[in-house]
Amino acid sequence: MYQDKTAEIIGHFSPAKDLNKMTKAIYSAFEKTGDTALDLAELTIQNKAGLFVPMSVLNELRRKLYSQIDITHVVPDLPQPAQMVKTNVAPKWIIKTDNVDTLTDINLTDCDELWVVTDIDFDINTLSHLPNDKIRLCLPPIIRQSNKYQKIIDTLWQMGYRKYAIGNLSGLTFLPDTADISFDSQLSCLNTQAISQCFELGAQNVFISPEDTLDNIQKLTALSDNIGVILYTDVPVFLSANCVRENDCSVCTQKPWHGELSNGKGRFELISKNCQTTVVPRESLCWAGETRHLNASIYRVDFCHKRYDSATAKRIWDTVRLGKDIKGTTKFNLKKQFA
Ligand SMILES: [Zn+2]
Repeated sequence: MYQDKTAEIIGHFSPAKDLNKMTKAIYSAFEKTGDTALDLAELTIQNKAGLFVPMSVLNELRRKLYSQIDITHVVPDLPQPAQMVKTNVAPKWIIKTDNVDTLTDINLTDCDELWVVTDIDFDINTLSHLPNDKIRLCLPPIIRQSNKYQKIIDTLWQMGYRKYAIGNLSGLTFLPDTADISFDSQLSCLNTQAISQCFELGAQNVFISPEDTLDNIQKLTALSDNIGVILYTDVPVFLSANCVRENDCSVCTQKPWHGELSNGKGRFELISKNCQTTVVPRESLCWAGETRHLNASIYRVDFCHKRYDSATAKRIWDTVRLGKDIKGTTKFNLKKQFA
């Protein structure tokens, strides 16, 4: 595709004193591809008169030629985002938890949806105390015993639960086509094309990655009522399907276990459950103070990974709802810029 590009510089040149040096100079000039997407594959020199060309002229010729064929900074024509509609309706509010006891003190009439994390050992009876019409069931990002887990999903479906959230595209394979599915933040959607793709795959809602920045989030939330932002959460810095407790997990208790880690720069909480390992920073993420600027139509507060008692969860929920930050939290990348 680059065959027909040419560049030329016309000038008067004197004979070279050392033709070998001249040849090397030409190679070194054209090998410099800098921050372009180009590599020099082949160079043919025709210099029958044995002339000397100054390095500055060679460099200029290289720039003239490479600027015609460098595609590094060319933005391709992207398809328009799928039909997205943004209105000014009051935002929906969601709580996500992996322990329903956390919700005991919270007034759930203020909450539009309750997301409950399911797992291989999920006890369906824990749902019985919750308002049924608000429940959305979250599939874990890593599912190892898929046959066993499929039975849990099948049972939930037979009981009438139709709303689910996935944290990994493989989650789609566990759910019937008619399921109402939200795509959670672990899918790391950071641009309109990724979000469009989620909607094309059947997502009702898509949650923006907690690694995103404010200016990027604003561009995305302006597009659709179906794009959600998490205002309070604990973002895993490490997630592994390996068990930290036993080499032989046939003798492992598999029950939840919490430990502390420190690497000199920060403190972390390690959670071992079902022979999987999650590490989260001690500092939770809180964007509540930026709610107005985030301008989303769906907001969520997460009580996952760490052990939140019901009084603490209520205090966090009430504070976030008021648009106030929780003390001792971080905003992570929110105020930064993507390079
Ligand atoms: Zn284990």
